[in-house]
Amino acid sequence: MDRMETRAVHGGERRPGPEGSVVYPIYQGTVYSVPEETDYHDIRYLRLNSTPSQHYLHDKLAALEGAEAALATASGMAAISTALHSALRAGDHLLVGDCLYGGTHDFLTQRAADFGWTYSFIDPHRPDTWPRARRPETRAVLVESITNPLVRVGRLAEVAEFARAEGLVSLIDNTFATPVNFRPAEIGFDLVLHSATKYLNGHSDLVAGAIIGRAEHVERARTAANHFGGSLDPHAGFLLARGLKTLALRVRAQNANARALAAHLAEHPAIAQVNHPSLPEHPDRAQAEELFDDCGGMLSFRPRGGADAAQRIIDALEIPYDAPSLGGVESLITRPAATSHAGMSPADREALGITDDLVRVSAGVEAAEDLLADFDRALSA
Ligand SMILES: *Cc1c(COP(=O)(O)O)cnc(C)c1O
Repeated sequence: MDRMETRAVHGGERRPGPEGSVVYPIYQGTVYSVPEETDYHDIRYLRLNSTPSQHYLHDKLAALEGAEAALATASGMAAISTALHSALRAGDHLLVGDCLYGGTHDFLTQRAADFGWTYSFIDPHRPDTWPRARRPETRAVLVESITNPLVRVGRLAEVAEFARAEGLVSLIDNTFATPVNFRPAEIGFDLVLHSATKYLNGHSDLVAGAIIGRAEHVERARTAANHFGGSLDPHAGFLLARGLKTLALRVRAQNANARALAAHLAEHPAIAQVNHPSLPEHPDRAQAEELFDDCGGMLSFRPRGGADAAQRIIDALEIPYDAPSLGGVESLITRPAATSHAGMSPADREALGITDDLVRVSAGVEAAEDLLADFDRALSA
């Protein structure tokens, strides 16, 4: 069961399944008979995340991350907001990585004060600066395993170690790396968060999230989720469980395509800069090699000729869709300054290196030869 291909297919499965089924069925029922004196949170009810299909999905998600427990949520943002609500109370302080997914950045900058939380940004590459940012009321630290869109990899093992030594809850958004490439629970993170909308489902056809990690932390998150109500519908959960079975196959193909495309673009005269942790010139290549099995399917690049040239390349490509999400079987391409990071001020974007000419690619599972030929054609157009 140790290789990810096997874990993705068999991890968390019931054998034999209900009625001998090889595939776990969808239990659509909202409610089930309960023994007397059952605790409110253990009543079997869909919103309480305690029904048979939900338990099955949770076991599968936990197996993939090599963790004790898991909870599926209605979206990636539901996973992030619920996990933070389970770790923080009014008056608490959060340390958070300085390059965040746009939705997480928005949630903290626009909502944290409403909950009485304060936060400080930290540079995940600079452990020497973390103790100064820690306050007596600091309770948790949140980072991302691979950042968007510059695909940076921080000192993640040190983050988990710092949190443990300081008694903080450590949270990591592992959406970009996926458990195929990196399993943060195995190096000590308390809670691993996912937008399952992306690689975990992998087919760009549902919205879901996951909170995975130590049982006591996941149970606290489940209580919070039960109160906020963002539970995942069983049909979506069924599709997610189906997608998970091919996770390793898909992600390995995406890893290979991103590597091939990054190496190819890095040699191309029309390209000024390529970002992918597999490249020798990437600042975090050593970090990625130490922590990850592979570098993931996301890359970004800057063409020569500015934002107009970037848009012309996107328009000329035939295989990748011009769309901002990621992690599906189809390649997607986007200009973050115009889409995912449009809500940020130009100055903030510039400070993070998200220039107007930056192009982000989510490599799909198409044949590498076809992708490279498409880029060659678009770059010479
Ligand atoms: C998409 C994404 C999210 C939010 O997920 P939703 O499913 O859209 O709510 C969070 N973190 C990362 C890194 C993402 O890419």
